[in-house]
Amino acid sequence: MAALLHSYVAGQWSTPQDDGVPLADAATGEEVARYSTRALDFAAVVDYARRVGGPALRELTFHERAAALKALGKRLMGAKDQFYPLSFATGATARDSALDVDGGIGVLLSYASKAVRELPNDTVYLDGGTESIGRAGTFVAQHIYTTRPGVAVQINAFNFPVWGMLEKLAPAFLAGLPTIVKPAHQTAYLTELVVRHIVESGLLPEGSLQLVCASPDGLLEQLGEQDVIAFTGSAATAARLRSHPRVVGAGVGFNAEADSLNCAILGPDAGPGTPEFDLYVKQLVAEMTSKAGQKCTAIRRALVPRPLLDTVADATAAQLAAVVVGKPDLDGVRMGPLASTAQRDEVLRALKSLTDAARLISGDPQHVAVEGADPDRGAFLPPLLLRADDNTADAVHEVEAFGPVSTLMPYGDIDEAVALAIRGRGSLVGSVITHDPEVARRVVLGVAAYHGRLLVLDRDDAKESTGHGSPLPTLVHGGPGRAGGGEELGGIRGVLHYMQRSAVQGSPDMLTAVAGRWITGAARHSGGVHPFRKYLEELRIGDTIVGGPRAVTAEDIAQFAALTGDTFYAHTDPVAAAQNPLFGGIVAHGYLVVSLAAGLFVEPSPGPVLANFGVDNLRFLTPVKPGDSLTVTLTAKQLTPRASADYGEVRWDTVVTNQDGAAVATYDVLTLVAKRPAGQPREV
Ligand code: NAP
Repeated sequence: MAALLHSYVAGQWSTPQDDGVPLADAATGEEVARYSTRALDFAAVVDYARRVGGPALRELTFHERAAALKALGKRLMGAKDQFYPLSFATGATARDSALDVDGGIGVLLSYASKAVRELPNDTVYLDGGTESIGRAGTFVAQHIYTTRPGVAVQINAFNFPVWGMLEKLAPAFLAGLPTIVKPAHQTAYLTELVVRHIVESGLLPEGSLQLVCASPDGLLEQLGEQDVIAFTGSAATAARLRSHPRVVGAGVGFNAEADSLNCAILGPDAGPGTPEFDLYVKQLVAEMTSKAGQKCTAIRRALVPRPLLDTVADATAAQLAAVVVGKPDLDGVRMGPLASTAQRDEVLRALKSLTDAARLISGDPQHVAVEGADPDRGAFLPPLLLRADDNTADAVHEVEAFGPVSTLMPYGDIDEAVALAIRGRGSLVGSVITHDPEVARRVVLGVAAYHGRLLVLDRDDAKESTGHGSPLPTLVHGGPGRAGGGEELGGIRGVLHYMQRSAVQGSPDMLTAVAGRWITGAARHSGGVHPFRKYLEELRIGDTIVGGPRAVTAEDIAQFAALTGDTFYAHTDPVAAAQNPLFGGIVAHGYLVVSLAAGLFVEPSPGPVLANFGVDNLRFLTPVKPGDSLTVTLTAKQLTPRASADYGEVRWDTVVTNQDGAAVATYDVLTLVAKRPAGQPREV
C-alpha cells in the first residue's frame, strides 16, 4: 500500500486515521499515494491560522512578506527537479510540468518583485488620492486597504496541483492572510510534496500555510465574515459552495474560478497562406494537447469563417494526427494521459453530449496509440476534434469536455462571431487571430464584457505571445458568468482582493497619522536641518523646506528656449502668444518652472540624497509670465525604506506658487535617500 498523504495543520504533520482511497499514476495505473476520506478538526485548524498565522503575518510589512516569498520562490526553484517525477504521475509531460511547477514558482517571484515596486514598506495600502470634502480643507477622506484578521481557504482543481496553490498563496500572503490549502484529491500528492519543501524551508511564518489532505467536510462551517474562500473547480461544485450557509448567511467572501467554454476566432482576413492562419491552427492544436486539454483556459470552441471551415479542419486534423500520445516522461511524447481514469470517463460522457450536436472529425476515443504505456491501464485519450456545421446547437456552447476536446464551427460575419462567442455565457479567455485592426476592435469590444482576458494574436506579436491558455501573474485571471464571476491575479489587484477597503474621513493631520503618508493640509515641519541633509531614518513625514521667492525674467525664458531648443511660440513670439486664448502673452516653459523650483529647494553638497528618479503627477496650473515670482514648498510625503538596500525612496509633495499665492505647478518629486551608515554622526 502506498503512503497516506498527511495534512500539515496546527504546526505539525498529521497522520490520517483511515486507510484512505488510492490515487493512481495516470499513465501506469499504479498506486502513487492514498488520500484520507476523514475530516479533520477544522475548528482547531482555522483557530490556529487566526491565532498564530494571522498575527505573525500582520507583524510584517508588505516588503517583508515579499522578501519571504522571494526566498521561498528561489528555494523551490532549486528543488524543482524533485517535483517533476510526481508531476509525471499526474499525466503531465515535461512541458506541462513546467507550466505547473515552474509557472507556480514564477508567480511567487513575480509577486515578490511587484510588491516591492508597487506596495509601500508598510501594512496599509492607500487607494487613490485624497478626496477633498470640506471647502476649507479641514475635512478630507482617503481610501485605505487593511488586512483582515481572517483566513484564506483555497480549494483547488486537480489540474494544476502546484500553480493552483501558489497563485493563490502569493497574493493572500502579501495581503497578510494565513492560507489553508485544500488540493483536489486526485493530484494532492504533488501539492503535499511541495508543501513539505515549504515547511522544511522555514521561510514562511508558522501558521501562515496549512495543508488539508482530507475530506473538507466541516471546514466551511468554521468560517466567518473576515474569511475568504478562493475556489477553483467545476461550475457545479462552485454553485454548491456558493450557496453554503456560511457564504450566504455569514458573509464569508467567495471567489470562484469555474469552467468555461473559451473561444478562439479566426479573422475573415486570415485565409490560408497568411501567418495568422498558421498561427490559428498551431494555437488550437497546442491548446487541445497541452495538459491533455485539462486547462480551464483551453479553447473549447474554434470559430472560423464559413468558407475556411474545411481548410481549417483539414490543417488541424493533419497536425493532430502527428501528436504522439504516451507516457508523459518520455522524450517525444507530446500529450500524456488525463489525470485519472475517472476524469477520462467524465470526458467521454461529455463527448457523448457533444456528438449529438457535432461530428467527430479527428481522433477515435476507443482507439488510441500509446507510446511507452499500456492504454488499458492509463487514462489515455487521443486529441478529439469535433465539427458543428450547425453552430446554433446548445451543447457546443454549454458542455465542457475537460480534456483534449475542441469543436470547430463556422460563422458568417463578425456580428455572428461575436454572438456565438457570448453564447459561452462568460469565459476566462478568448482570442481573435487577425491582422486587421478593425476586426480586432469589433471582436474585442463586442465580447470583452463576457471575458476576463482577451488575446489578439497576429504576425507581429506571435513570437513573444505567451499564448491563449496561459494566465499570467500580472494579468487578471477569472471571468464573468459561467466562468465563476471571480477574479484572481492581475498584479497588485490580486493582493487587494484579500484586503478590506475603507473610506476614512477626518482632518489632514489625522489622516496623515492613519495612512502614513502626508496629506495636503496636514502640519508641516520646517526650520532646522535641511531635509536633504537627513538620512532616511531621520526624516519625518511632514519635514518641509520652503525655497524662494525667485523672479522669472523674459531673459530666463529666452535663454531656456535657446538652451533646450523648445522655441514653441508661446515662449518666444510675443505677437502669436498674445493670440493664445489661455496665455495672452509670453509664458515660461513648464519645465523651466520645474527646473527653477529644483534650484530653490536643492541642497547641493554631497549628502544622503543619492538621486532623483522622477516626478509623479506633474500638473501646470497657472501660467507663469515674465516678472512673476516663484516660491516652492517641498514636503516629505512618504518614506519607503528598501529592505535589501542601504537606501530607500522618499516621495516629496511639491507645490510651486506665484507672488499671489496661486499654485503654479504641483507634483511629487521622487528621490533615493541613503540610510545612515553605521557610526555616522547625526547632523543637528
Ligand atoms: P471539482 O470536482 O469541482 O473539485 C474542485 C475542488 O473542490 C476539489 O479540491 C474538491 O475536493 C473540492 N470540493 C468538492 N466538494 C467540496 C465541498 N463540499 N467542500 C469543499 N471542497 C469541495 O473540480 P475538479 O474536477 O477538481 O476540476 C476540474 C474543473 O475545474 C473543470 O471544470 C475546470 O474547468 C475547472 N477549472 C477551472 C479553473 C479556473 O481557473 N477557472 C482552473 C482549473 C480548473 P476533492 O477533490 O477532495 O473532491
